[in-house]
This record gives sequence, structure tokens and C-alpha cells, in this order.
Amino acid sequence: MAPFLNADLHCHSVVSDGTLTPEQLAARAKANGVELWALTDHDEVGGQLRAAAAAREHGLHYLTGVEISVTFAGQTVHIVGLGFDAADPRLQTGLNNTRGGRDQRAQEIAAQLAQVGIPNAYEGALKFVGNPELISRTHFARFLVESGVCQDTHEVFRNYLVEGKPGYIPHRWAHLKDAVQWITECGGAAVIAHPARYKFSANEEYALFSEFKTHGGVGVEVVTGSHTPAEYAIYADMAKEFGLAASRGSDFHSPEESHTDLGSLPYLSGQLTPIWELLEHRIQ
Ligand code: AMP
Ligand code: MN
Ligand code: MN
Ligand code: MN
Repeated sequence: MAPFLNADLHCHSVVSDGTLTPEQLAARAKANGVELWALTDHDEVGGQLRAAAAAREHGLHYLTGVEISVTFAGQTVHIVGLGFDAADPRLQTGLNNTRGGRDQRAQEIAAQLAQVGIPNAYEGALKFVGNPELISRTHFARFLVESGVCQDTHEVFRNYLVEGKPGYIPHRWAHLKDAVQWITECGGAAVIAHPARYKFSANEEYALFSEFKTHGGVGVEVVTGSHTPAEYAIYADMAKEFGLAASRGSDFHSPEESHTDLGSLPYLSGQLTPIWELLEHRIQ
């Protein structure tokens, strides 16, 4: 696989908080010129067989994918897994446990919203949910747009559902060590997702990268829809400093909501080791 490859190794379907099916995403990836694709639903591999089959139909190379929610130093961090065996019970059991608690949290989010005059948010969010085990803040955001509270989901995440605003319920996700191990022991590569999104101090960020490496993590997203071009350069340097491979992915969720479409990002710098070089044997 060439270093300059239109790889899109991060996106979401209706199996988590995207609005397209795995089949619709595969068709869109193909139409946008993607050469290597991975569907990375939050805490869930239920869409993997469908995504791989659709990729095959379109002649797209495919890597299995997932985005695991982790709590590290008091914040939520996302760890992407690529190229694992999706049928392996070790990853599936870990993800089952990570998903647990989402429904309870959703009811608490709705109770807080009711206190600020927004009733029935649980039922409202559920209408947008494709997978009952995966009710997320994104589904609440869609409900708040539909009911006219906010213009769009970006406005929602400035005024609701985030720390210090109505509808925020802290949650304890998986441990970093466990998430990295589930991915790795099932044959995959663990990747730190969109590192620029976290609000860590320099020391905390250093701790995240070094502990991630210690536990067996091998990659970091450098070119992602969540980073600015200046941040591509910062995390390209971090990848080199920590000896990590680089990944590339849009984090596409929806044609209506996402700024970055599948396959539309710049290539990785030729000075980085692309994550797919480590995963050639796992490409379907
Ligand atoms: P949850 O896993 O339920 O906490 O939901 C997290 C999801 O909310 C993320 O995967 C994003 O899709 C969405 N999200 C979180 N923060 C933002 C933001 N600032 N802007 C847009 N979407 C966001
Ligand atoms: Mn999401
Ligand atoms: Mn994420
Ligand atoms: Mn994502």
C-alpha cells in the first residue's frame, strides 16, 4: 500500500451515532475516491460484517474498526481500534461492558434538561437512535435541533450536554489499558483518536501518549476532521517523538452535520509511517 493513499479510517453509522447505514457509507466512500476504509462506530462492532461486505461489493479495501470511549485523567478520550478480529469475544465483552450505563446516563441527561424547561428529551432522543444499546449525546443533540432549542448540533455542544452546561452527566468509561489490550489481543492496532480535541495540560498529554505506548498502543490520528492544518503538524511531530504510526480519518457522522466528508482530507506527510503499513496482513 502506497504512503499517499486516500484512507479514511474513522466514521460512524446508524449502529452508533451516524445517520447513514454501513452500506450508504461504503457507497459514499467509493464515490469520494476512498481507497481504504474503516467503519469505527462508538463502543460497538455490530456494523462490521455489513461494512466489510459493502466494501467488497464496491472494490474498496477494508479494515475492521471501532472507537472506544475511555476515561483518562478525568476526561473522555477516544481510542480507535483497526484491523482486529471483530468476532473475538475478548473485544466484544469489553465493549458490552463499556456500553452498559449509557441508558441510565441518558435518563439522567433528560432529567437535567427537564429542569431547564426541556421535557421528554429521553423519548425525543430515542427516536434518533438506531441501536438501543448506544444512546449518545449526539442523539440528544439531534432532538434539541428538531425541537427548535438550537439551530444545529454545533450550537447544542456549545450550550448543552457539555461540562458546566445543562444535560451534562459525568460518566466513567473504560480504562485506557483495557481498551488498548482488547484491540491488541484481537490482532488489531490501537490509535489515539483526534488528540487535539482533549483539554489536557502538556503533562497530562505526555502521560496519555506514554501510558498508551506502554500498554501497546501503536498509532495516533494526525490528519482528522477534528484537527486544523496547524494541528496536523503538531501531532505529526508527536507521532515521530513517540514512535507512533499515523492515521487519517474524517470522523464523518452525517451529510447534514459533518464539516468533513469521507475521503476529503489531505494526505499524510510522507515522513510519517502510515498505520496501514502495520496492518497490511489485516486488510480485507
Ligand atoms: P457520548 O459518547 O454519548 O458522550 O457522545 C459523544 C459524541 O458527541 C461524539 O462522538 C460526537 O459525535 C458528539 N460530540 C461531542 N462533542 C461534540 C462537539 N463539540 N461538536 C459536535 N459533536 C460533538
Ligand atoms: Mn460520535
Ligand atoms: Mn471521537
Ligand atoms: Mn468518532
